[in-house]
Amino acid sequence: MLTFVGEGYTPAFTENYIAIARRLSSGEEIQLVDGPDDICAPLLSGAAAHCHNESVVARDEAAAEAVGRLLGVKVGKGTRIRPDAALLKRLRRNFALGTIRKACGECEWSELCGHVAERAFTDVLVAPG
Ligand code: SF4
Repeated sequence: MLTFVGEGYTPAFTENYIAIARRLSSGEEIQLVDGPDDICAPLLSGAAAHCHNESVVARDEAAAEAVGRLLGVKVGKGTRIRPDAALLKRLRRNFALGTIRKACGECEWSELCGHVAERAFTDVLVAPG
């Protein structure tokens, strides 16, 4: 959500995520789930599906723990988050500082996400107006 700039695994994944990014940018509330979510949906029937891999489950847990620690709340299945400008500003600042990037270790997108943060998130598609 913090670093999506229109890049992704497949054209269907990217198209779906762009539509979700519009909804998130308008402040639509997010409900966290265990496992694959609406963003992952286009991958589930294809060869690129990796959503149930152990590494992905561990990455989700690490991200939830890091964000929960920052916000001072328990983050997990069922947590509701409204991605408003104040929250995104706080998350972006901490992502750029590296304090909520525990989940990024060994992620194939880590270099891209690092560049997005270095460019001050200027090209991201989840951006409240
Ligand atoms: S590096 Fe991977 S885990 Fe970290 S924000 Fe980017 S896509 Fe998510």
